[in-house]
Amino acid sequence: MTSTTLSDGRIKHITPGWTGYQNPNEPMTKTKWFKDGTKYWEIEGTKNTYVVSCDERNLLKCECLGFTYRKRCKHITQVKEMLNGN
Ligand SMILES: [Zn+2]
Repeated sequence: MTSTTLSDGRIKHITPGWTGYQNPNEPMTKTKWFKDGTKYWEIEGTKNTYVVSCDERNLLKCECLGFTYRKRCKHITQVKEMLNGN
C-alpha cells in the first residue's frame, strides 16, 4: 500500500483496486475507500479537501456537511461545471 499525506493533513492510501482517504485524528478503520472505476474528485475548499463521488446510479455525493443537510453544495456544483467542460 502506498500512503501519502495531503496538504490538509489527510492520508491518501492507494492499494490495488482501491483508493482510501483517512482523516487526521481518525483511525485507519475510518478510512473512506473508493473502488477503482468509481469516479470521484478532490475539491479543495478553504480549510478542507472534500471528496465528491459519483455512485452507480450516476448521482453525485459530497462528504461535506452542507451536502449532508441540504443535498447540495458548492463542491458538487464545481464538479458539474467541470463535467460540463467549463
Ligand atoms: Zn460539498
